[in-house]
Amino acid sequence: MMTATDGQVMGATQIVSNGSPARRFNLVLVSEGYQAGQMAQFATDAQSFVDALFATAPFTQMRCAFNVYRVDVTSTDSGADDPTACGGGGGAVATFFDASFCNSGIRRLLVCDSTAVRNVVTAQVPQWHQILVLVNSPVYGGSGGAIATFAVNGNWQQVALHEMGHAAYGLADEYEYWAGCGADAPGTQDHHPAGEPGQPNVTLNTDRATIKWGGLIAAATALPTMANPDCAQCNRGASPVPTGTVGAFEGAHYYHCGAYRPEYECRMRDIGFEFCAVCMQTIRKTMDPFMDRQIGPWVGVQFTGVVAAGAGRTWFTFNWPAVWQVVWLVVPTTPRPGAPQIAWRTRVERAGADVITYWITITNLTPSDVAIEARYAILSGFGVC
Ligand SMILES: [Zn+2]
Repeated sequence: MMTATDGQVMGATQIVSNGSPARRFNLVLVSEGYQAGQMAQFATDAQSFVDALFATAPFTQMRCAFNVYRVDVTSTDSGADDPTACGGGGGAVATFFDASFCNSGIRRLLVCDSTAVRNVVTAQVPQWHQILVLVNSPVYGGSGGAIATFAVNGNWQQVALHEMGHAAYGLADEYEYWAGCGADAPGTQDHHPAGEPGQPNVTLNTDRATIKWGGLIAAATALPTMANPDCAQCNRGASPVPTGTVGAFEGAHYYHCGAYRPEYECRMRDIGFEFCAVCMQTIRKTMDPFMDRQIGPWVGVQFTGVVAAGAGRTWFTFNWPAVWQVVWLVVPTTPRPGAPQIAWRTRVERAGADVITYWITITNLTPSDVAIEARYAILSGFGVC
């Protein structure tokens, strides 16, 4: 049981500030199982999650949608209860939120007193949207939900991002097993039951006209894109299409067959990968209200230069947010009346999930050198910071 003697609420510190909490997505990180002398470590751990969050697409372009708070709560002891019933070390420690492994008989299922967490956070940051409880334990584990709990070790930041996918953005698990491939009781996960799942990133439907992420599927992509030839097991075959292709891949939502996921890989299937395009689109849609809508257009000159007589020259400009709508316009700045002086074309590279490189090739149509300037107009987009 949690008691007043198990620790103390020290207060809240805002670690990412982007204005009024009434307008932002307010994320709160709470400490559990950190002793008073370990609070500097909690601050470091909290910052490491913030760094991971903003290094992960599409959050890379949503920093200004977030306020992030750290709520410092000390515990008398370090760690979490680790009952021997699940093969744990048997440690029973006095911590503020009474975190314990071995819930429902599963050692890695780490749960704390979520009512107490909710009460403490609501008192400190009333406008919270998502709470992550960081448990200072070397034992691997966690649990999801609006109040997600993680032991701070291993790749916990990646696990936390997957759990935020569920809690904050309503995404389904895209993996095709329950306990694990080959670990499930034979026959239990072979065929998804009837009934379309409500989440945006799994479906039973492979009809191009009505599949819920149809807008992201290229006409040339086959549906289903990948079928599972043996519903008695996970399909571990290689993807038949290039990475990043959106289609319908059989094996999703805990079942080997009958349910489909949008891409071969996704963070909602395996935390070692980026979110797929459908999950990213869902996250963006949810976060839009927390972003300041930019009022455009913005115009400017990105570069100037000289193109030699009769020649062509290519420039590139990189790291343009993919969410921006950018138009390029190249004009000569050397006067020479009577005929067109240059022609240009823009080619486009998707250099990363969130960024675009523009390649601009300019051809000089005259027998003299021509100076140019390349102008951009950013027509629209949500705030990028
Ligand atoms: Zn996905």
